Formats: sequence, structure tokens, C-alpha cells
Amino acid sequence: MINYHPSIEILTDYAAGSLPLAHSLCVSTHLEHCNECQQQIKKLETLGAHLFDQGHTEHRQLSNLKDSFFKRLTEEPEDLVESPQANKKPVNEDVMQWDDYKIPNSLRQFITKGYNELNWMRLSPSFKIATLYNEEGGAQVALTRIKAGAHMPVHTHTGDEITLVLQGAFSDESGVYRKGDFINRDASHKHQPIVTKDAECICLTVLDAPIEFTGWFARLLNPLIRRYHPHSH
Ligand SMILES: [Zn+2]
Repeated sequence: MINYHPSIEILTDYAAGSLPLAHSLCVSTHLEHCNECQQQIKKLETLGAHLFDQGHTEHRQLSNLKDSFFKRLTEEPEDLVESPQANKKPVNEDVMQWDDYKIPNSLRQFITKGYNELNWMRLSPSFKIATLYNEEGGAQVALTRIKAGAHMPVHTHTGDEITLVLQGAFSDESGVYRKGDFINRDASHKHQPIVTKDAECICLTVLDAPIEFTGWFARLLNPLIRRYHPHSH
């Protein structure tokens, strides 16, 4: 059961193709397993096509288009309500089963064999990180792997952080996050995630800027993180 979804702003940017590649990757992976957001994207695409057909997009700024999206979303005009035929399709048909340790389709270009084959870098006895790619201009896409029951060092973000849970679960002071949950944290957020005791946790993470550890690990980890993140020099 997925409880945390991308915001409507993120989904709209995704549908409009204006979301950075790194962030799109997280959204695509979430969509593979979230029927609710798939429906939302379909709705946004229908609205986009509808507005485009009416010539509304010409000479208009993207922000205006977004305003229209939100307005139309809340209005639910009759001509945009899905036809009964579209509703015949059983819910969840498009949603893949989320098998244990199955690599999501969106990530197969980066993870060809399996999680174990990646180039994991050990940052502490219980915390490993593997970079999938670094986007030009800064964002880092990585997998983090934390042992069952482990506390991650307290850290803050100098940029936004998106986390998508791929395996296992973790919690922080705001809640418990399980497979498929999409968590977006801004720079002001300081938190200490704890992995549940039953299994290790693997997450897909997009960092706009490298994380900074604020606890006793700071001296040990920050130079490693900086070395590991080529855009932070
Ligand atoms: Zn969702």
C-alpha cells in the first residue's frame, strides 16, 4: 500500500515534460506501481491535449498552462470526464506486482544485473551508497542501502531530496515509508531515518546537492560525500 505520492505540481511538470530527468526517473519508478498516480497523469495528459486542441497553449507561458491545469482539475468539466468505456478497465491492471528485489523497469538502464552488482561505497558499517548517474548541473541519482534496524546519521540537505523506497521500509519523526512511497524533502528539513528491524532498506535517492551530516559522523562522512559528489567542489 503506497501512502506517499508525488505532489500535483511534480506530476504536472512530469506530464508536461518539464521535470528534470533525475526527478522524472523517481516519478516513473513510482508510477510503475501506483495506479492512483497513473490515473492522475492520464487526466493531466487529457487536459493538456484538450487545452492544446483549443489553441490555448499558443503564446502562453508554461505557468499559465499550469494554472489552467489546476483550474480544470478542480472544475472537472463534463466533456473531460472519462467515458464509460474507459472505466471498464479493471483497476490495477497496469500496476506491476512489486516482487522482492525485482529491478523496476525505469531503472534497468542503470541496474542491468541486480542490486548486488552495483559499485557500492560503504560510508559506515550499516550505510552504503551507489551512484547511478550525475546529472549535468548538479543532481545526483543514487541508491542508498541501509541495514535492518540501523539509524542513519542525522543530516540536513543543502538542496531538495527525493527518496523512493524500493525495498524494505524506514521511518522518521514524520512517518513510516514503505515500498513505492515517494518522499520529497526540502533543504530546511533535518531528520534521522531509522530502518525497520525486519529487513534492509534500499532507496532511490535524488539529491540536488550533497547531504551534510550534522551529527558525530560529520567529520568522517562529509569529506567522503564531497569526494563522491563531483559537483560539490
Ligand atoms: Zn502515487
